[in-house]
Amino acid sequence: MRNTEDRKIVDEVLEEFAALAAIPRPSHHEKAVSDYLLDAFRALGCKVVQDASNNIIADRKAAPGFENVPRVILQGHMDMVCVAAEGVAYDPLRDPIRLRRTENELTAEGTSLGADDGAGVAMILYVFRHAKDVGPLRAIITTDEETGMTGAQFLDEKYLSDADFLINWDSENYDELTRGCAGSVGVEFRRQIDWRTPPEGKTWHISVRGLLGGHSGERIGDGRGNAIRILAQTLHALKKSDLSFSVASMTGGSARNAIAAEAEAVIVTQAGTEDIRRVIAEVEQRERIILETSDPKLQITLSETKQPDRVLSDAETAAVTDALQLLHTGVFQMSTTITGLVETSSNLGLLRTEENEVWFSYFARSSVDGKLTDLAESCRVLGERLGLEVQIATPSPGWRERPKSALSDMMAEIFEMQTGRPMKVDVIHAGLECGWHIQKAPKLDMVSIGVTTHDIHSPKETLDLTTIAPQVRLVTETLRRIADGKCAAK
Ligand SMILES: [Zn+2]
Repeated sequence: MRNTEDRKIVDEVLEEFAALAAIPRPSHHEKAVSDYLLDAFRALGCKVVQDASNNIIADRKAAPGFENVPRVILQGHMDMVCVAAEGVAYDPLRDPIRLRRTENELTAEGTSLGADDGAGVAMILYVFRHAKDVGPLRAIITTDEETGMTGAQFLDEKYLSDADFLINWDSENYDELTRGCAGSVGVEFRRQIDWRTPPEGKTWHISVRGLLGGHSGERIGDGRGNAIRILAQTLHALKKSDLSFSVASMTGGSARNAIAAEAEAVIVTQAGTEDIRRVIAEVEQRERIILETSDPKLQITLSETKQPDRVLSDAETAAVTDALQLLHTGVFQMSTTITGLVETSSNLGLLRTEENEVWFSYFARSSVDGKLTDLAESCRVLGERLGLEVQIATPSPGWRERPKSALSDMMAEIFEMQTGRPMKVDVIHAGLECGWHIQKAPKLDMVSIGVTTHDIHSPKETLDLTTIAPQVRLVTETLRRIADGKCAAK
């Protein structure tokens, strides 16, 4: 830590953070933490509203003499992704997060930490406690950012439209400032199963693994393999080679917004072992060449396993594997204005065989909202043709970059002045609540920033404590300059 002043900031932010960590707060279970924040902001002298979604809207009055300064919103989310390492007993609805602090890092014992976005919320509380000589501030702390952004979706627009600036404090690198993001739409394809008795033959377990996976926004431009699609291509190749088989189950992926790194199927067949091995080796060889530079450790393995009780009909199998063969996964289009930015992409994230149905998820992102509408429509047509039920979720809107953002320019300048290093200013191919905000208040000048975190949404989630004080100073100086009339919106 740089000096005692930094240490004081970090200690106090972590005190706020520890209070949040003590309250279980997975998405959809935010009432307790929302009540806590209601009291915490009230104790700071704010006027606080808890809306029907349990969002917290807290207004801090302008300092005397700063009443005419434009209002600034500081925004974060109160829910967190709750996951535990294998073998760790953890009930996300009851157990607090146990913190472990070293000189420069904060982690949790065996679980995710909730720095996403507990760090943002803790810093907002810190700024509300300490900011001097600034105009009116509003904190908006939303619910359910992690699973559907419904807190932001249902937030009343009146809480956004009377402000000039919004700082979303939910990004992951302290030297990066985001000024635009992609929208998304989730689609699920389903097929009811009418179970059959398995035919005679051997039972095989086909497994696709060794792939890198990764976040379906950040990593989709890297050309990584998708295990669900490769599994479907494998089954398709067996069928094309006239090796008939019945499928007992198809499974793959870990989350709709993660590139599927693993997938597997259990099949029953009378085909010869050598024939099956040959087809699988051909698919593996072809895909390995395709993925040679981007995802080189693909393996498709075959092992004999025990006979299942039941199998899908051929029509059910064909409906699902044909759709998976036809649906593109990966990049559709690169941005025509920003070099290296993915504009439109999609991901096959989950494939599951359950008691009554087999289903899979298809998650598309685009910075052009119209393309999401079009993609969803293509899914509907494809599903109808193939005999799959198609469910299209409410799309999350994108946040189109403003041609000119006084806030972004000023914050980048302050960051460089304060730290001696440049701030990366970027548009991202991932979702932020800013997409919902800008729909309701198109004139808002908005940025997204955040402390540096690693491995969020995992038990390895780590918060880099050395980035807290620089973030607090950046926001404090930004508020001060806005109060001095040095940042004109619109
Ligand atoms: Zn977050």
